[in-house]
Amino acid sequence: MTARPLLARISRHALQHNYAQAKRRLRADGRAWAVVKANAYGHGLMRVVEALRRLADGFALVEIEAAIALRESGITQPILLLEGAYAADELALCAEFDLTLVVHSARQASQLCAAQLTRPLAVYLKLNSGMNRLGLNDAEFAEVWSALNTCANVRALTLMTHFADADDERGIDIQLAAFNALSAGRDAPLSLANSAALLRFPHSVASAGHWARPGIMLYGASPFPLLKSAADIGLMPVMTLTSRLIAVREIAAGERIGYGGAFVAEHSMRIGVVACGYADGYPRHAGSGTPVQVAGQRSRTLGRVSMDKLCVDLEGVADADVGSEVVLWGDGLPADEVAMSAGTVSYELFCALAARVAVVEI
Ligand SMILES: *Cc1c(COP(=O)(O)O)cnc(C)c1O
Repeated sequence: MTARPLLARISRHALQHNYAQAKRRLRADGRAWAVVKANAYGHGLMRVVEALRRLADGFALVEIEAAIALRESGITQPILLLEGAYAADELALCAEFDLTLVVHSARQASQLCAAQLTRPLAVYLKLNSGMNRLGLNDAEFAEVWSALNTCANVRALTLMTHFADADDERGIDIQLAAFNALSAGRDAPLSLANSAALLRFPHSVASAGHWARPGIMLYGASPFPLLKSAADIGLMPVMTLTSRLIAVREIAAGERIGYGGAFVAEHSMRIGVVACGYADGYPRHAGSGTPVQVAGQRSRTLGRVSMDKLCVDLEGVADADVGSEVVLWGDGLPADEVAMSAGTVSYELFCALAARVAVVEI
């Protein structure tokens, strides 16, 4: 039993719908990794994997323990480790559980080729096309490519890169040109597109058998909310975070709300107190005016978010009272709007959902 009214509802139907939206953007022979790192962007790894078990072409994440848990739960599709192995002693596990491995450095490549493995692995060789985080540069690539092509521990090679600006004005063309120059003449399937590239730049997924890597779109948020809302893209919100008013009060002009008196009433007003705070994952840096839905009406937060509570304006929500439902984000209030207002991204809101929040599947 959870008495506290704060609840995250996770919609299986929305997940399945959003995955299908990703597949729709690919060629008939294109595939899509369902990116489920970080506990499926805070939605619950096993819950999301169950919802996509029959649909997903593969699952991609960074945590090897989670990857093994997926295999042990009977997942037979490919499972991709997006950062590869952190140390050579993980390679035996990758072979045992048949995990597909990113190789992003010459160091990882030589560890892989030197390992004694029970079976060869499928490898994603990652090229640096300008993001300058992970991936091989020009100088390293030729040597690593030929090493992996002659290495008994490698059974298949895919070439990948990651775009830094697929969601903004710069777009992908500079990086795509760098990638094409680096990989010219190598015959391998490609994996280039995250959600933003998949949705905005069809040419990024145009190669035969492309493996796209959609993450955020599966959870129903827009990768570029300034350009297009999730609804405009045809996505459905997966997580709806709801709570209730646990107190309602009138305050007079000049009165302050919450810690530090960050909000001062200009006139008398009716306010509500919601059971949801930063210890639940609601961002503390969301200032007064962050959108919230109270009893079905759009309203705004007032004052500082505290650990377990936040305050909302009840002006225009006349029938709101103790017990009224509050939507923090999700169905009826896109997470992207809350995130933009709070100066962050929906990814961070979802991933921050705290363990103490009760979760139900719908
Ligand atoms: C997380 C991740 C993705 C998914 O990105 P979204 O923006 O959530 O679609 C794709 N590729 C790599 C390498 C990642 O780490």
